[in-house]
Amino acid sequence: AVAARARQVVKAYGTGETRVVALDTVDVDLMRGEFTAIMGPSGSGKSTLMHCLAGLDTVTSGQIFLDDTEITSLKDKKLTQLRRDQVGFVFQAFNLVPTLNALENITLPLDIAGRKPDRQWLDQVVETVGLSGRLKHRPTQLSGGQQQRVAVARALASRPRIIFGDEPTGNLDSRAGAEILGFLRRSVDDFGQTIVMVTHDPVAASYADRVIYLADGRIVDEMRTPTAEAVL
Ligand code: ADP
Ligand code: ADP
Repeated sequence: AVAARARQVVKAYGTGETRVVALDTVDVDLMRGEFTAIMGPSGSGKSTLMHCLAGLDTVTSGQIFLDDTEITSLKDKKLTQLRRDQVGFVFQAFNLVPTLNALENITLPLDIAGRKPDRQWLDQVVETVGLSGRLKHRPTQLSGGQQQRVAVARALASRPRIIFGDEPTGNLDSRAGAEILGFLRRSVDDFGQTIVMVTHDPVAASYADRVIYLADGRIVDEMRTPTAEAVL
């Protein structure tokens, strides 16, 4: 089944002389249970595509579907609700709340949504990302890699239909980055998680099932079961 779909998506910023076409008629289907990496040079439209697919940004024309829901025609309130209930995010900046401990950060989106955490699931997620002994720690008491583990656990906690990552290992050294990518990979293999990740790191992309290449706002190539050598 298709988890996220872009149909003839155009995204332009600005008007007249300053108009920039960031996405130029993009069509893509991202399948459920698949880990997709979006690659391409700086300015090729990677972040814009991710933001449009995630409903964080509006499109100029065309349609975006998450599962069977066309999100491009949703009103703000419905879209916010759908993002909150069905989408997880992991960004380059960990975006943790400094006054909350690790566990409180992990369950925050659920708390905001008024949802009860599924204890068994939460235990499994915490165990998977190796945070078991650190749940009472505040972000400042954790390393960068541990903070990103909290962010990954937070993204997984609500069992979202899809997780979007924007350079999730961009602020980490290669060892901590490999750990985070391993957890993301495992969530796909073990839980059937769907992940879409923007990266310019071939090693990061090698954890994906599929790599999509953008250039000048268009999809110019793609690869299945990539290796770091092949991505380079
Ligand atoms: P990438 O993530 O591949 O680096 P982006 O999606 O950030 O690319 O940007 C694609 C193009 O859109 C670039 O030319 C960029 O300058 C432009 N762009 C992105 N965001 C904005 C914005 N908010 N306003 C104007 N132009 C933007
Ligand atoms: P473990 O701790 O169980 O050995 P890892 O954290 O090393 O697991 O990896 C978790 C998942 O990521 C595994 O499915 C593994 O196959 C995959 N993986 C590990 N390293 C790479 C790599 N360099 N490229 C692609 N997949 C990898």
